[in-house]
Amino acid sequence: MLASRMNISTLREDPSEAEIASHRLLMRAGFLHKSGSGLYLYAPLLKRVLDKVERIVAEEMAATGALEIVMPILQEQALWEASGRWAAYQASRTMLTVRDRGGMTFGLAPTAEEVVTDYASHVVKSHKQLPVTFFQQHTKFRDEIRPRFGLMRVKEFIMMDAYSFHASDESLDQTYQAMRAAYDRAFRRLGLEAFAVEADSGAIGGSGSHEFMVAADVGEDTIMFCPESGYAANVERATGTIPVAPAWESAPEAPLITHTPGVGTIEQVVGFLRAHGHPSLVASHLLKTVLFVAKTAAGSHSVAACVRGDRELNEVKLTNALTRLLTAEGPVLQLRPMQADEVRDATSAEPGFAGPVKGLKVAFCLADRTLQGRAPLATGANLTDHHILGFVLERDAAVPVAFDDLITIRPGDGCPKSGKPLQEKRGIEVGHVFKLGTKYSQAMKAEFTGADQKLHPFIMGCYGIGSSRVVAAAVEQHHDADGICWPTSIAPYQCVVVPTKTGDAAVEAAANQVYHELLAHGIEAILDDRDVKPGVKFKDWDLIGIPHRVVCGRGVAEGLVELKARRGVVENAPLAGAAAAIIARVRGASTPAA
Ligand code: ATP
Ligand code: MG
Repeated sequence: MLASRMNISTLREDPSEAEIASHRLLMRAGFLHKSGSGLYLYAPLLKRVLDKVERIVAEEMAATGALEIVMPILQEQALWEASGRWAAYQASRTMLTVRDRGGMTFGLAPTAEEVVTDYASHVVKSHKQLPVTFFQQHTKFRDEIRPRFGLMRVKEFIMMDAYSFHASDESLDQTYQAMRAAYDRAFRRLGLEAFAVEADSGAIGGSGSHEFMVAADVGEDTIMFCPESGYAANVERATGTIPVAPAWESAPEAPLITHTPGVGTIEQVVGFLRAHGHPSLVASHLLKTVLFVAKTAAGSHSVAACVRGDRELNEVKLTNALTRLLTAEGPVLQLRPMQADEVRDATSAEPGFAGPVKGLKVAFCLADRTLQGRAPLATGANLTDHHILGFVLERDAAVPVAFDDLITIRPGDGCPKSGKPLQEKRGIEVGHVFKLGTKYSQAMKAEFTGADQKLHPFIMGCYGIGSSRVVAAAVEQHHDADGICWPTSIAPYQCVVVPTKTGDAAVEAAANQVYHELLAHGIEAILDDRDVKPGVKFKDWDLIGIPHRVVCGRGVAEGLVELKARRGVVENAPLAGAAAAIIARVRGASTPAA
């Protein structure tokens, strides 16, 4: 490719709206063009990178025996009604919908379990056809609340989504492991350091799931991990052992209602009680009650959730715990904190004084397991400006309490496997694998004839890789002060040949020679034939991130050129061997250029 024909459009300045390196560099280097709010045009350089990502992912999927298909992006409402997910996606407003001229409503694919389950029910009739996996790489739409960070979180993106169908749980387990291994291979080939963590299944549902994370400070996910045992889980799901609260020595033996004027927050209550007869009181001696409204397909429920005063409530865990409590009603579609007037109705008090004591009017009260046992605590009294001290939840609660795991694990809590302190890091979710079980097949009556000649619902798994997010994650992991440092496997081009003296016949001939030799060997090469200063050329290629460079300059007179890997040092090499050296480097590099 001739650089003069590439429409190179690098920017000197960082675009003001770009907060993270991948967004900034992809914009500056001309890979991305902002086409609207949260909408991006993939420029020619990006198209080449994305094609390579998709090819590697497709090859690894195909290597597991998965079959590639293309599903429609427009998905009929009726299909989503059949699975029961239409209501959930409407409630969370995740799905963008459109209407055709006949008034029929369609969802724009946020994922495709319904469409593929319907397909399998038509083409897979017998257990002899199982297991089978279908996958596609296609545009997905999600009406994200906060699209940001360029390609990282957009309303329209590209996902590889795969769906497997099985006759038994063992068969699902096998494919699930095969997919995890395929992901490992794909991410390695993509030059990404990704690792699997236990994850929440979210709106997709199912019994088990792992996310694949790329460690990065700008990642939106928090991962708790233990270097000792290898345990790693998204904080949405992480479990662990929580240090026991020290005893509250001065707690009254029986519940004692106490005037606590104007103190609503945990810090205020601790400060007040410390100054009024309880100098050793700490936040873990408080019981914090948070009030929510939970929506299911059947209606809305008021919910109180109790956690120890020094800990944060985990809303994902609470949603799952409620879904378990409300099995008959289907999943909790939405969980939102009560507004002030709703709190007043539920507690007959100002916000800040709620507790699982007399006067609490909620449909469900859940409490974290750390509150089980007989330690006395201080709780809101459902009376403005009052708390109850010496309250023992299991002894004194005025409402039925269901115990569950509701707390957000934090660094220092004990690893559930080794007991050693957990550590925290940030990650970018690039892929996700789920065991779905029969959630979709049962709802949609997608069945096969088993060896017993009876009909059974398919047991399913599903697997997603955010191909376009992978591109952004790769830049996060591979860049420096000068620009992007693409892993060779996904670089838009592998090598650039830069003549530094335009008009010098020998230099131009040398550059041409190397360039054509590279092309002849299938190397994706660029010849920088632009009439600009060498410094401008080098800056552009560093920014764009081409992994290998051959510079033809003054040395050509002595038969020498310069070779340089994007992050390497300049080496002199004979002109005659330059192309061969680059070919060897490109072929040898499945990982980023050093
Ligand atoms: P997130 O938690 O980041 O919102 P998710 O868990 O909702 O993602 P999945 O349903 O697991 O996403 O989708 C599979 C993959 O698709 C994700 O692992 C991610 O790589 C990609 N993806 C999801 N949402 C987006 C988005 N808004 N923009 C770009 N990629 C996305
Ligand atoms: Mg996910």
